[in-house]
Amino acid sequence: MTQYALITDFDGTITTIDIGNYLCIFYGLSTPEKIEYAYKTKADARQWMEQNFGPVKTTVKDFEAAVLSQAVVRAGFRDLCIYAQKNNIPFEIASGGLDIYIKPVLKKYDCEQIKILSASAEIKPDCITVKFPDYKGLRMEEFKKSRVMYYKERGYKVIFFGDGPGDFDAACAADIVFATSRLEKILIENKIPFCHFQDYTAALKIVRGENVPLSFA
Ligand SMILES: [Mg+2]
Repeated sequence: MTQYALITDFDGTITTIDIGNYLCIFYGLSTPEKIEYAYKTKADARQWMEQNFGPVKTTVKDFEAAVLSQAVVRAGFRDLCIYAQKNNIPFEIASGGLDIYIKPVLKKYDCEQIKILSASAEIKPDCITVKFPDYKGLRMEEFKKSRVMYYKERGYKVIFFGDGPGDFDAACAADIVFATSRLEKILIENKIPFCHFQDYTAALKIVRGENVPLSFA
């Protein structure tokens, strides 16, 4: 039987919109134009998060209220989390985002069992401190890919879900890719096969062993 491992991006993938980008605009620290420029110039995810979130003055309560006012989790995510846990299928979030907005969303949707690999942040009275784990010198893109490789090397068939340029390396390495938005565009440009990602229901069928016609673009 096929042993699957699941790796998903968070912003714009688990959630329908990019929560990190939303918060930067909400707190007046960036603009849609600046965000677009950061994507185009392949800005370093770590630096970007530190620069944008560092100066935010807020409270945990207000911050989480802002997050939860916007965060909508895609269909099938919770069912996939539950199924993966029951069946010992590794399922992890590989994100360049911050745990302080990922965790409240997972809590609201009762999906706290999923493993989170992201930056950890802390809301202080006059700033937000952002701490990235030791990626052993890897860029965010490379780190995401390294998670795919980790499972592939152990014999798993890896399904990856993503929406952004930072997900490209991982998408190229995965066995099955679900992609939307900017990632979808780049995969088409590079002629990399993928399935259009709308939600997690097709992936749930795959790991259950159901026959899913994979429409590679
Ligand atoms: Mg994303």
